[in-house]
Amino acid sequence: MKLPKDQVLDIFRETKALLEGHYQLTSGLHSPQYFQCARVLQYPKYLHLFAGEIAKHFEYADVEVVISPAIGGIVVGTEVGRMMRARTLFSERKDGKMELRRGFELKPGERTLIVEDVVTTGGSVFEVVELVKQANAKLAGVGYIVDRSNGKIQFEAKHFSVLQLEVVTYKPEECPLCKDGSPAIKPGSRGNY
Ligand code: ZN
Repeated sequence: MKLPKDQVLDIFRETKALLEGHYQLTSGLHSPQYFQCARVLQYPKYLHLFAGEIAKHFEYADVEVVISPAIGGIVVGTEVGRMMRARTLFSERKDGKMELRRGFELKPGERTLIVEDVVTTGGSVFEVVELVKQANAKLAGVGYIVDRSNGKIQFEAKHFSVLQLEVVTYKPEECPLCKDGSPAIKPGSRGNY
C-alpha cells in the first residue's frame, strides 16, 4: 500500500524540505511553496522509507542494476540499490552531456531501474533512458520520490513516484501573494540553502 499523501507531506514539512509561504523561484516565478528534496534525505529513516517505497514497487521487476543521474538522484539511488541488492551506478554530465564515467558500464540485456529524487521536466531521466538504450540494456522502470510534472511526464517504461506534488507558480505581476502585500523570499538569499 502506498504511503498516504498527508503523511509524506507532514514529513516534508517537518524536515523543512517543503516550505510554505511566498517564494521567488530561480525561474523568477513566484510560488506559495518551495521544495528542496535533499533536506528530507539527510535523515536515514526517511531516506529508507521513501527508497523502500520505490524498491517495493519494483520488487518483481528483476532489477539487476540501478542507475541515477547525479547529483540529486545518487543518494536515493544508492539506498534503493542497497535494498534491492542491485549493482548501483550514477551518470553525470560532462560538458552538458549525460555520460557514464568512472568505468561504470551497463551490460546488454541488463535489467535497469532508473532512480531520481525529483522529476519536473524529466530531462535528466530522459538522458539516462538514452544511456540505457545505447548500452542495449533493458529498462525495467523509473522510480522517483516526487513528481512535480503535474502529471505531464510519461516515460516509456513503468514509472512510480512516492508523491505527486503539484507546482503552483505565478508571474510576479499576477501573484496574489504580492497583491496581499507580503514580500517574496528568495530561498538561498538568507543562507537557507
Ligand atoms: Zn509574489
